[in-house]
Amino acid sequence: MAKRKTTQVDSDDLDNASDCGVTGSNVEAGPSSSKKQRGTATNAKKGKGKKKALNQSTDEWPEYFKSLFKIYKSFNTVLAFCSSRKHLAVTFPTVRSSVEAILKQPLQLNKVAEIKTILPDLLRFAYILQDDLRVNDASPEKGRADPGFERFMQGNSDEQGSARENEHVLVLDFVSHTAGKTSDSQAFQLPPALTPAQVTKLIERRNERFVEAVNELINATPSGEDPVQVLQAAARDHVPINPTAVDVLDEQGPQTIPNSNERASIEELIEDIKLSNLYRDQIVDRRIFPAKEARLGQVSQPLSDAIMDALRQSRKITEFYIHQSRAIDAIRQGKHVIVSTSTASGKSVIYQVPVLNFLEESHESTAIFIYPTKALAQDQRIALEQLLWSCEGLTDIQVANYDGDTSKDARLGIRESASVIFTNFDMLHMSILPHEEQWRKFFRNLKLVAVDELHYYTGVFGSHVAYIIRRLRRLCAAVGNTKVTFVSCSATIANPGRHMRDIFGVEDVEVITDDGAPSGRKDFLIWNPPFNDPLDPRNGRRSPMSEATRLMRFLMKRGVRCILFCKIRKICEQAMKMLRTDLTGEGRIDILDRVKAYRGGYSREDRRKIEQDAFSGNLLGIVATNALELGVDIGVLDAVIMLGYPFGLASLRQQAGRAGRRSRDALAVLVAETFALDQYYVQNPNELHDRAIDELFVDLDSKIILEAHLHCAAFEMPLSAADVSYFGPSMIDICNAQLKKDEDNWYHPNPKFLPFPSQHVSIRGIQEETYCVIDVTRMDRPKLLEEIEFHRALFETYEGAVFIHQGESYLVNDVSHNSKTANLIKTNVNWVTKPREFSDVDAVQTRRIREIKGSPHRAYYGQIDLKTIIFGYYKIREGTILDKVDMETLPFERTTTGFWIDVPRSVLEFFSAKRLNPAEAIHAAEHAFLNQFPLQADVRTECKVAIKEYKTEQSSRQRPARLIFYDSAGTQGSIAAKAFDHVSDILYAAFEAIESCACEDGCAKCIISSYCKENNEVASKLGAQVLLRGVLGLPIDADAIPEQEDGSFTVTIVEAQTVRAVEGVEVELYIDGP
Ligand SMILES: [Zn+2]
Ligand SMILES: [Zn+2]
Repeated sequence: MAKRKTTQVDSDDLDNASDCGVTGSNVEAGPSSSKKQRGTATNAKKGKGKKKALNQSTDEWPEYFKSLFKIYKSFNTVLAFCSSRKHLAVTFPTVRSSVEAILKQPLQLNKVAEIKTILPDLLRFAYILQDDLRVNDASPEKGRADPGFERFMQGNSDEQGSARENEHVLVLDFVSHTAGKTSDSQAFQLPPALTPAQVTKLIERRNERFVEAVNELINATPSGEDPVQVLQAAARDHVPINPTAVDVLDEQGPQTIPNSNERASIEELIEDIKLSNLYRDQIVDRRIFPAKEARLGQVSQPLSDAIMDALRQSRKITEFYIHQSRAIDAIRQGKHVIVSTSTASGKSVIYQVPVLNFLEESHESTAIFIYPTKALAQDQRIALEQLLWSCEGLTDIQVANYDGDTSKDARLGIRESASVIFTNFDMLHMSILPHEEQWRKFFRNLKLVAVDELHYYTGVFGSHVAYIIRRLRRLCAAVGNTKVTFVSCSATIANPGRHMRDIFGVEDVEVITDDGAPSGRKDFLIWNPPFNDPLDPRNGRRSPMSEATRLMRFLMKRGVRCILFCKIRKICEQAMKMLRTDLTGEGRIDILDRVKAYRGGYSREDRRKIEQDAFSGNLLGIVATNALELGVDIGVLDAVIMLGYPFGLASLRQQAGRAGRRSRDALAVLVAETFALDQYYVQNPNELHDRAIDELFVDLDSKIILEAHLHCAAFEMPLSAADVSYFGPSMIDICNAQLKKDEDNWYHPNPKFLPFPSQHVSIRGIQEETYCVIDVTRMDRPKLLEEIEFHRALFETYEGAVFIHQGESYLVNDVSHNSKTANLIKTNVNWVTKPREFSDVDAVQTRRIREIKGSPHRAYYGQIDLKTIIFGYYKIREGTILDKVDMETLPFERTTTGFWIDVPRSVLEFFSAKRLNPAEAIHAAEHAFLNQFPLQADVRTECKVAIKEYKTEQSSRQRPARLIFYDSAGTQGSIAAKAFDHVSDILYAAFEAIESCACEDGCAKCIISSYCKENNEVASKLGAQVLLRGVLGLPIDADAIPEQEDGSFTVTIVEAQTVRAVEGVEVELYIDGP
């Protein structure tokens, strides 16, 4: 460890030192300086006493130098302050944040490099070993002064204490007195203490020195040349390079970023990537989707001149693509329509043109447009408004958003005068249908209901939506309107016609999948991070995140507009932070200024700002979660990089579809993680492109969801037996049992749900309370950063946590559960934190028992308690744990429903004899089971965590040997029960999938699940196979299974104890057939 290589200097020495600095004489004469400093534009001349009045000499400077001087003066002040604080090492990030606070503008790296060029001998601006930065370890006051402030600054000795030895940090400081010692060593000098008067004097001298140097530069510049340009050119040599960051050395790229439409073609760029030194054969698959010409179609009956003029004027549309014309024709013939085509194929025209047509026929006509998000609905309302304004005869038609943000006053006006409303299913369910008496005129004239992004409505949410649509159709019929047309668009899905019929309950559906929109050529790459050591794969692969961000930097430098999709918010922020660090390190602040993170949780204003910046082309890069997957228009993107296989093929295709429009070529890259599922697609790339998306599934048999909507429907208008045409035959039994029947045989809602039954039905699941995350770095100006749900707050904002926002680190200072706020302070720490927690999923009461076909074992259904305890956290840097902190928090407890299957003792004994890990077997069997259940997205299981299962010390926390599945919050207990009803069949299907699968260690067809919260790391195909055999009562051939060689593991699983049952539970026998 290199600390304090110089002798202590006292303040007199310092005076001399700064004197030396000011004149440059001693430093320049030193033997090392010529070696160390690179060629510069200004070779400071010797000589004292050239002190003019500052103002006088700067008056005639070019503006550029004046502004540079302003920056210099502010960091001169900051540095002087820092050096008067012994224990603070002066790293660039520390200086930057203070200087930015003074200047109220970003401090750009190239400006610092220019100043360094002007004063080469006086300034140190370089990467040095973190170890050499270690200052004042022995100081008794270390880290103690101003505890509220300094512990957040880089250079706090606690932090350095845990730094890795070979890590470099960027330092910006004045070179201090070297006492005759050579400065070959880059060791950081200990800043001596100064009195305030000395500090002032020092600042003045350094300012004077700058003025002199600039004057010399101006005088030395040959006439005809611009001193500013001379300086800027020379400064490029002074942008520091981080020696440990290989990334930074990889690739400088062009200094000026080409305009997006002058960029090289994707084909050329891929060649450039292959030639660059970042390339280590990462591209394991490349598929080229050739450009497609537009295919046009004619509408069978011509549209009016007014509509065609409006399309031409407001959209520049003169002809329709074939899918558009077919959809418009079908709607005009009164058919329901589903259009399932690629992203950006001009779907909005399909809703808009028929609406204009209906309005031309009668100004009384009305329509409802439904979007999954408010932002989308607003974009689309504006689009239709513009079209109407340019459509002769329809310019007075009113359209409006009708959502949670619409004021009470505005609502009345909208109901009276709007012809088209843009809304969502929540509003329809909670506000519009329950007040049907206010909407009767609107419903009577309703011609068209357009539902965008139909694939969004699946699973439990899809079931709710299906019943909301049925309630709407019933109310329209009640006012004499049975002719409402439904039109919907979706991404490419497996069976769009059936999904349309399920959701809308209608029959005469026209399915349109023939996409006539043109598209540019697209290259789709699968990128597998290379081994750290090609000769020894056991050292693992390079981090997918650094591969993805490196690729993104490479592309952005070449004018390629990129989006990087990350699976979860935390990864999104870490990737942004990595980009921030690396782009800063490379001196590419010009690019960094044009990159933003985007994800759920950001405030509405922030999001809208980023969307607008993206749309206008200001942004070169976006790092996002799938919050951006759904249609929000962010303009043309050239490349999509996916960091890890996203949640399902539908997501992957949606994300990949974000790049490329019409005539431009585009790029999509899947950067594979090391997880089994990602590596499966690395091995089987064709499956990624050719496999059909899993069918969307809407469950219309769920009695719980149906009952909820029957109460709502009965409130809107009493139900009668005739309503089975909307709600199906099981309606009558439910009505008799749960609703209130009057003497005329009308059903009314159960009074316990009044006054508004819909308020008891949450269609998106239970809405958690949220916490405000507030930046209080400036006490006088606190800023709301994000609002996050409680369960996230629990894991992300405990005291001491590092919280990342827009790639910048904040430290959680305090959390109040009363006011639901977390106060954060901006910091420069270079670690992240990870909670140390455990979550238990415990069966506590048995309510049903079911036979497993052909087996002596049983499955159980009942109450399940979920408990999460956070007992501390790790500080982590680059995957290495630096520190382990203990903490006490209250447990977070919830109750839900679910079912479980206990692993028979004989199977556990077999595992033990063969040294098979039971945790791996249980986890793999759980996912194998869920893989055979179509509604698996709404069911949870207890995932096994690698860090716990593969711990070497004995675990005190042992879990029962049990497959356990439970309902996620807000599904009202309906889904796990459904799986339980079919538990035998699903178990057999899972077992057969494993037995017949040709893979070696498990794949996406058998035990690997994209829903696994722990990335399938703890899994054994063989173990799952044995386990399921045991549960199903099938023979296990002991001879066929050898004892496992590397079978040493700590025991985390113990035999499960039977859970007490409520009285009178009888075993439900297996019945063959559906
Ligand atoms: Zn398999
Ligand atoms: Zn899992």
